Amino acid sequence: MRFQVRGPATSAWTGIWVHGDEITARECLARWVAEGVRGYFVDSTTRKVNAGDLVINPNRIFTREEVRHHLETANPAAPDQHLDHTTAAIERDREIFLRDILPDGDGVLVALHNNFAGYALAAEWPSARKIHLPEPDRPRDFFLTVQEQDYRTLSRGPYNVVWQQAGLPSDGSLSWAAQQMGARYVNLEVDLGAETRQWEMLTYLRQALGDPTLTQQT
Ligand SMILES: [Zn+2]
Repeated sequence: MRFQVRGPATSAWTGIWVHGDEITARECLARWVAEGVRGYFVDSTTRKVNAGDLVINPNRIFTREEVRHHLETANPAAPDQHLDHTTAAIERDREIFLRDILPDGDGVLVALHNNFAGYALAAEWPSARKIHLPEPDRPRDFFLTVQEQDYRTLSRGPYNVVWQQAGLPSDGSLSWAAQQMGARYVNLEVDLGAETRQWEMLTYLRQALGDPTLTQQT
């Protein structure tokens, strides 16, 4: 699984785009990188990426739990030997990668996603500690946070916010890895194609949580 890295290594915040079919989110991150953030872009045009000779949803391998299970589900015909080999390779690389993308100090890692039919805020209810829902008619547009203070700050604003409950079983997504490592992390989900909306919500997030690249702009 390869990423293209753009923007300065000294950036306090980082942005990441992991699903190659979520092109609105890619454009949003590219625009943010142009304003000075460090961005990680998955090197793929499809949702699943190649992991050796197997395929995997990249947002299912960021924690230790269930990696082999996810690999097996995505590659039902693969022999055990391949599944074991790829699981071991993911185990070896995971922590190095997480240390690279997670910001130092007080920075925030922002994952940019788009959704369409089949996924919306309701999917997060079972693992939510709290939900701020000022826009119930826009269930596909929301922030997912892992730190209480970030939730409290964002929940004073006009957009939907979920606070993920710590300690629940992980599905392998980046939010659980960030939470386990005690990092500041926000997932920004917006309807695919809603480019203006995603940029507006990202700008609000940067203002609310104090992205230094935004301060430099104004
Ligand atoms: Zn996604």
